[in-house]
Amino acid sequence: LGSGLKDALKKLAGKTVIDKAAVEELVKDLQRVLLQADVNVKLVMNLSKAIKQRSLEEEPPKGMSVREHVLRIVYQELVNLMGEEIEVTLGPQTILMAGLQGSGKTTTTGKLSRYFQKKGLRVGVICADVFRPGAYDQLKTLCDKVNVPCYGEPGEINAVKIVENGMKQLKNAEVLIIDTQGRHALEDELIDEIIKINDLSKASHRWLVLDAALGQQAREQAARFHDAINIDGVIITKMDGTAKGGGALSAVAETGSGIVFVGSGETIDDLERFDPDSFISRLLGMGDLKSLIERAEEAINAEEVDVNAMMKGKFTLRDMYKQLESLKKMGPLKQVMSMLPLGNIEIPEDAFDTTGKKMEAYKVIMDSMTNEELDDPSVIHASRIQRIATGAGVSQEEVRELLKYHKTMQRTLKGFKGMGGGKFNMQRMM
Ligand code: GDP
Ligand code: MG
Repeated sequence: LGSGLKDALKKLAGKTVIDKAAVEELVKDLQRVLLQADVNVKLVMNLSKAIKQRSLEEEPPKGMSVREHVLRIVYQELVNLMGEEIEVTLGPQTILMAGLQGSGKTTTTGKLSRYFQKKGLRVGVICADVFRPGAYDQLKTLCDKVNVPCYGEPGEINAVKIVENGMKQLKNAEVLIIDTQGRHALEDELIDEIIKINDLSKASHRWLVLDAALGQQAREQAARFHDAINIDGVIITKMDGTAKGGGALSAVAETGSGIVFVGSGETIDDLERFDPDSFISRLLGMGDLKSLIERAEEAINAEEVDVNAMMKGKFTLRDMYKQLESLKKMGPLKQVMSMLPLGNIEIPEDAFDTTGKKMEAYKVIMDSMTNEELDDPSVIHASRIQRIATGAGVSQEEVRELLKYHKTMQRTLKGFKGMGGGKFNMQRMM
């Protein structure tokens, strides 16, 4: 938070009824912060209106302070601003990259090919940029690094023809990514060309690549591309710089889509799935809004853990990750566990060591797994372990350790059996 916002929040502390002046002051500070982060003026105004209205009209839930109530509304409205949550499917698909020159399309094409390759998919890339000299070499160099085939025809001026040939040449690719030209302005010619490429390739996704530093022009660019090819996702690049990426939110609003990925550096691995919480934290220049809200929410409705589902035997790696995260929020787990009637079930010393480092390491490893593997870890044998380890940049031993840890958790959770009741309330037991 900017210090202004913090002060405004302080004024709400200790209040038992909602104070209109205090809410207005908070909203004003929030506006200043968002505008500085390049968020579109109209979006900021709409957001302000919603926050004011809801703060004054909605009753704080029982047990929640006025300050927490307002903070929660601010957070929820900010999350709305982030657009749809976009799922990335891990199956055959064609992705068309759109955006102006310099936005980061080619770099991101390389990063995406690496991303899908790590998920075990066969990737192929087509260079349809006939405008920028050296476009093919740039893309080819990136693709060579990760051994992804790159099709291009340097010297050819018909981009549509290149795509047509490329599709034939790369017909074995499961994920086909088409990099396009951008030029500097939105010329009709450029738009006509990308429409033709979209029609020809029957692209499953049309992702708009935007520089985080792009301010109010983001809306116009998005509108133009959206009109032409129906943008269904936004990628924000250069988030490793000082820009906060707020401009891209108007592209999200304009296209009714959401942010798929965020580029965070110049190397091929600097690509992350969009995470609304970290984006919001960065936008506001603070790190703890989400956890503040969560603590408040836990106070009113203590976390319900669905033990039944886990006991039915289906405890996947994905479940494990979710459980670790939600359990972490509840504080020292050992203490909780020691109060449960677990009989003689043995809990390994480190089974619930959910502290930062290990979880982060597990997350990196799980990012290199396919959906199939996350849903059913029993399919993970030697060759897959090797692929996952290479993808995550860790040793095979570490992947094995994660799998072992999952098994231990699974066994431990089976111990909950016989406690009666499918859902139990952990908070009540503490
Ligand atoms: P294109 O014209 O849209 O294809 O853009 P390029 O992919 O050629 O990127 C333009 C410049 O931005 C290059 O110098 C890239 O290295 C740089 N770039 C792209 N993405 C990122 C990023 O996420 N972080 C940083 N720091 N630089 C990036
Ligand atoms: Mg390019």
